[in-house]
Amino acid sequence: MLVLERVSAFVREHVWPVETVLDTGSNAELARLRGLARSAGLWALPLPRNLGGGGLGLTEYFSLAEQEGSSDHGPSVLGSACLLDVRMFRRFARPAVMELLKPLVAGEISGSYAMTEPGVAGSDPAAARTTAVRTSDGWLLNGRKWFTSGAGNASYVTVLASGSLFVATDFRVVREIPVLGAAGQFEIELDDVLVPHDHLLGDVGEGLRIAGTRLALGRTLRCLRWLGMAERAFDLMCSRATERQVRGSALADRQLVQQHVFESLLAIRSARALTHQAAELVAAGQDARTEIGLAKVAAARTLHQVCDAAIQVFGAEGLGPDTPLPMLARIGRAARILDGADEMHVSDTARRVLRTRAS
Ligand SMILES: Cc1cc2nc3c(=O)[nH]c(=O)nc-3n(C[C@H](O)[C@H](O)[C@H](O)COP(=O)(O)OP(=O)(O)OC[C@H]3O[C@@H](n4cnc5c(N)ncnc54)[C@H](O)[C@@H]3O)c2cc1C
Repeated sequence: MLVLERVSAFVREHVWPVETVLDTGSNAELARLRGLARSAGLWALPLPRNLGGGGLGLTEYFSLAEQEGSSDHGPSVLGSACLLDVRMFRRFARPAVMELLKPLVAGEISGSYAMTEPGVAGSDPAAARTTAVRTSDGWLLNGRKWFTSGAGNASYVTVLASGSLFVATDFRVVREIPVLGAAGQFEIELDDVLVPHDHLLGDVGEGLRIAGTRLALGRTLRCLRWLGMAERAFDLMCSRATERQVRGSALADRQLVQQHVFESLLAIRSARALTHQAAELVAAGQDARTEIGLAKVAAARTLHQVCDAAIQVFGAEGLGPDTPLPMLARIGRAARILDGADEMHVSDTARRVLRTRAS
């Protein structure tokens, strides 16, 4: 079987059935599934071989990221969720931080990434208030971050402070912030946290530039994963439309239901084409800002739209606990805000295109 088929089968057979357990943050269930992934030879596929990964290149990984991401938990279960940190550390970290790489790829530790802050627009990271002051012993960090995914279990957090990025191992979790009822997001505090000099990534003041390189790949992967989830909602909607009888005929025979199916398929196929365009440029290391802006908005809107249509076709059952639609719809709603609010991508992309026309 091709690796794509094996990943797809693994996620469907092992991850989909226990998503509600994983949504509660169950470490035991996550550990069990990770053991299965290792035994199946599917662990950490896009991570470098010398760190214990599968060594897949970006293009190969992109081709299976949609299947892996058809569950929000797929990347974590299959050990690829740390890809962005690993690539960032390999490029910008000093030896002390590189020590984290092996345990990270082995799944022994996890990290999180903290840019967004309470009281400040996350769409304007340059306005972040967390400070880093250089002392003889290291950098003194002070501030609060929130919606820091996975910080509750993290061994370290990469923090944007005073325009630089630091890897801090000492931080306080203030509270968990449920997102539409789901676990996984946290508010954290850095209160006179001393970070060694060699835990700075890149050079002083390079934080936003490094964040930009990370975001290009991060957004592309997120789009692929959202498409995997949208396809899943679409399949559910189509099955329901063909099976459900209303007043003597299948829902599939109703034109208004056909419209939901058509619009959803159109959105998925269009967003996929845009995402693959972006992915190709990202894999080639080329400037993909316009393509990523288009793909991000298209993929987020698509997941939101398709989940909404599927819930409508399911009726009340689509809002209850017997299908994954509420979970997928929650992710689709958040998608329009995270990784840069859609409006920010619309403005930035349009401005960039208009600038090239003017010159
Ligand atoms: C589930 C989830 C996980 C997250 N994980 C992380 C994480 O791990 N690390 C992290 O640092 N952050 C994380 N975030 C935060 C996320 O990155 C921010 O929510 C995002 O950058 C938007 O920032 P904000 O929420 O402060 O909204 P704001 O920047 O205050 O924007 C609010 C609204 O203003 C409007 N707006 C913003 N910019 C423009 C514009 N240019 N033009 C027109 N309108 C505009 C939009 O309607 C936007 O939705 C996460 C968020 C969610 C929901």
